[in-house]
Amino acid sequence: MLEQVLRRACLALGIVALAAADASADEMQCPGAPTSVISPTKDLAARICAAAIWAEAFFVRCGLVQERTLSIDVVDRLTHPLGLPVIATFDATKWKIQISTYEAVQSIILPGSVYRMLPPRDVYDSLVVHEVAHAIFREHVHDLNIPVSAHEYVAYAIQIASLPPEARDTFLLGFPRQTPSGFGIFNEVYLAMGPLRFGANAYRHLFKDNMSCQTIRRIAAGEADFPLPLE
Ligand SMILES: [Zn+2]
Repeated sequence: MLEQVLRRACLALGIVALAAADASADEMQCPGAPTSVISPTKDLAARICAAAIWAEAFFVRCGLVQERTLSIDVVDRLTHPLGLPVIATFDATKWKIQISTYEAVQSIILPGSVYRMLPPRDVYDSLVVHEVAHAIFREHVHDLNIPVSAHEYVAYAIQIASLPPEARDTFLLGFPRQTPSGFGIFNEVYLAMGPLRFGANAYRHLFKDNMSCQTIRRIAAGEADFPLPLE
């Protein structure tokens, strides 16, 4: 009822966008990529597609082509099995990413987070890149069992590479450190204690030379000496 009244009021004012917005929660096929997005608005779907295409192009440059069809669902509320709200997940059994709405992400990011110092849209786009990077990288790891920290190293490094230079500099300034020399620090405790710090240093380490593609391929082949999981 309220919706009808609003619609009539809008029409009376000559605003017809409401009707168009209603019909937009359908699937968008990302142009040129085997990825589709289901989002409450077409604007958001287009934005997510752009980020997914950026990630795909990154891997293509490294000779790692995305073959598998990937679907991305934007959801209002995404919760971890333990009940905590989460920003995004990649489900490797369904080859599907779920990501919270733009508004939900703003409320999930903690007040003290470095993300708060960056333009929120840049952060959102980079979070999409992170999850798509997980999917494409996973495709090239095949059934090899490599540490979770190796997967996160790749996803975070590419996420941070996708940020516009100014936002990236701000992010890195939040975690000042010399570039790590090897993979030794990238263990699961370091990841759990400070995922964004881990991410900043993964970026520094992966892009320290012009060998990032070779490094990613080496990690995918299980040839990088990441610390073994502690158990
Ligand atoms: Zn991740």
